[in-house]
Amino acid sequence: MRQIDSRVLTETTEKSFMEITHLPGDDLIASLEKAHQNEKSPTGRDILAQILENAKIGREEHTPICQDTGNSVVFVEVGQDVHIVGETPSEAIKRGVSQGYTKGYLRASIVDDPLSRKNTRDNTPPFVHTEIVPGDKIKLTVMAKGSGCENMSRLKMLTPAQGRQGVVDFVVDTVRRGSGRPCPPLIVGVGIGGTFDLATYIAKKSLFRPIGEHHPEPYIRELEEELLEKINNLGLGPQAWGGRTTALAVHVETYPCHIASLPVAVNIECHSHRVKTVTI
Ligand code: SF4
Repeated sequence: MRQIDSRVLTETTEKSFMEITHLPGDDLIASLEKAHQNEKSPTGRDILAQILENAKIGREEHTPICQDTGNSVVFVEVGQDVHIVGETPSEAIKRGVSQGYTKGYLRASIVDDPLSRKNTRDNTPPFVHTEIVPGDKIKLTVMAKGSGCENMSRLKMLTPAQGRQGVVDFVVDTVRRGSGRPCPPLIVGVGIGGTFDLATYIAKKSLFRPIGEHHPEPYIRELEEELLEKINNLGLGPQAWGGRTTALAVHVETYPCHIASLPVAVNIECHSHRVKTVTI
């Protein structure tokens, strides 16, 4: 049994959140550069150039690429041969978020209660999802998820008879209805199957794939390609000022489901895509 001190989890969480708010990933930059080359709309090209310039400033000057430094979302895969010594993983990660947002002067955006709404002042609590996996490592993936895009995400319980076409229509309609509010160009995470709650879980998890990396199953890859084509045919474009680049990628994950169900969740991610994975 490998022992890992909970302070390692705290430090990794702290550093990762401080880093991702100003350091967009290489996959995001490459996707934006490709979109900039291919975008036909002059306004769309101009907006993409500004987004790229903003990302460059973030990298060089260590300033957040967006004022909304997000919901702190953390996915943890804990190897079954790991024993975490000290605090529980949830406590250690919460401490890491608190330290990272405080030391990094990052905007605190979380309220303690959805109705009375008092700011917790350190962006806690984070939203932590844990899976137990084989092995003796911990894989920690952090995401600073903006709420402009989270608010445009949707879930629908389709009937099985609505099938693949029902899924396509719902996903495209979700992007159309969001228009400029989720700050396109987007990464669209889609979860199909499972239950009411699991569909949303896999939709968000799909956003952790490198941008544009397709699902290994050919028929799901085809669905991702079709959805991207249809979404970009909407003509919303960057920040919905017109153009082809409404989305950079569509990622689909599926899960077994009940014979009477066809849940579909769409988790919309904005162009300020801030994600990092660390293996401990
Ligand atoms: S949706 Fe994304 S880009 Fe828009 S304000 Fe929120 S975090 Fe920033």
